[in-house]
Amino acid sequence: MYFDKAANSTLHEPGLLQFIKEVDSVYEFIIPHERIDKNGKKVVQTIRAYRAQHSHHRLPTKGGIRYDTMVNRNEVMALASLMTFKCACVDVPFGGAKGGICIDPAAHTVEEIERVTRRFAAELIQRGVIGPAIDVPAPDYGTGPREMSWIAHTYQTFHPNDINAFGVVTGKPVSQNGIRGRAEATGLGVFYSVREACADAELMKSVGLKTGIEGKRVVVQGLGNVGYHAAKFFEENGAIIVGIGERDGAVYDPNGLDVTDVKTYVQAKKTILGYPRCKKVLENAQQILEADCDILVPAALEGQITLKNASKIQAKIIAEGANGPTTPGASEILEKQGVIIIPDLFCNAGGVTVSYFEWLKNLGHVQFGRLTKKAEEKGKREMVRHLQLLTGRELKESEYQTLTHGSSERDFVYSGLEGTVHEAWENIIKISREKNVNLRTAAYVSAIDKITLSYNELGIWP
Ligand code: GLU
Repeated sequence: MYFDKAANSTLHEPGLLQFIKEVDSVYEFIIPHERIDKNGKKVVQTIRAYRAQHSHHRLPTKGGIRYDTMVNRNEVMALASLMTFKCACVDVPFGGAKGGICIDPAAHTVEEIERVTRRFAAELIQRGVIGPAIDVPAPDYGTGPREMSWIAHTYQTFHPNDINAFGVVTGKPVSQNGIRGRAEATGLGVFYSVREACADAELMKSVGLKTGIEGKRVVVQGLGNVGYHAAKFFEENGAIIVGIGERDGAVYDPNGLDVTDVKTYVQAKKTILGYPRCKKVLENAQQILEADCDILVPAALEGQITLKNASKIQAKIIAEGANGPTTPGASEILEKQGVIIIPDLFCNAGGVTVSYFEWLKNLGHVQFGRLTKKAEEKGKREMVRHLQLLTGRELKESEYQTLTHGSSERDFVYSGLEGTVHEAWENIIKISREKNVNLRTAAYVSAIDKITLSYNELGIWP
């Protein structure tokens, strides 16, 4: 529905638009999983697994793999499509893909998850459908660096002569050819995208808010990798985290919560219920979405803001940290209420953007900054020395360190992400104003324009 709405705001050939919309290929297979049941008996379970590649207009295709019992063919296809538009929106030169295994990770041992993951990888490798130049998975809901590491090592076992083998997945641990900054990248991207929106005086005026992040009251749903880091960046930049939602409940405090403290509690107790240092604990997790705040960050799963609760949302800005948290029906209601929705394909693109940097690092076989750090420091020290001589002012040690610091890998990653988000935002807001469409439609239009151009200039399309 989102695609169709945006496609209608363009003048591209309908057949080409239909071709862009369809999912190219879906691989679906069964993983036999042998385990010992409660009675000590050996049983074989069958587990369904999927990988959908939505668009091959750029290669490799790119997107996460999720482990959840809700995983199904349609969900994976929809999320693969979203990846295509996400990559195009932020100029990451990949097609879109997504994978999933219908499994509850919490109900299995680490050894079992490893076996299922390696089998999944082997199935894809044997079909020849993954590889650094073909399709590059990454973490998503229910997976993380550990799973990526297993996939990379399985791929390397099958391709011992491929010097680029580790480029087969991103989101790997740093020790396994991952990149610094990938873990927090999606949350950081959410923060950067909200910061862009909050810097726009006209937009802020439309919802009766002041510009800037400072003092904004934020609610985050989901304290996983995306929600936790987003909340931390908001907190560090002067926002007040008034609410945090988890699977089994939520906490609220108008004076602000301590994000790390809540996270530590949830990790230790395996629940958010009973958290003591807050005004209110909500037993109904969904209720946090309706709490009084300026910015709501749904950072869990899709379909959270629906026709049922849309009119009860009090936030002025919704920043979609998750993929598809707002249904099309809810979006319409919210638009009528004047709520600004920063759409998923732009808002949470920080993950795939830094995945792109990780893939570049893997193909380049060198850490960003390795060759330049000292040279940069040397040049800066010279400049500071001259300035000190000219002005007669001696710098404090801390000032000197800040001014002469050479960029590290993490600095490059943050700078690359910040620049990417800024450019994409400029494009989205321009389209939104020119065509008088909401931010989501503008983001889709920007993506569709780029994909169409790529097909037209490739000459594949007549
Ligand atoms: N799973 C993440 C997403 O939905 C990251 C994908 C990637 O890095 O390839 O954007």
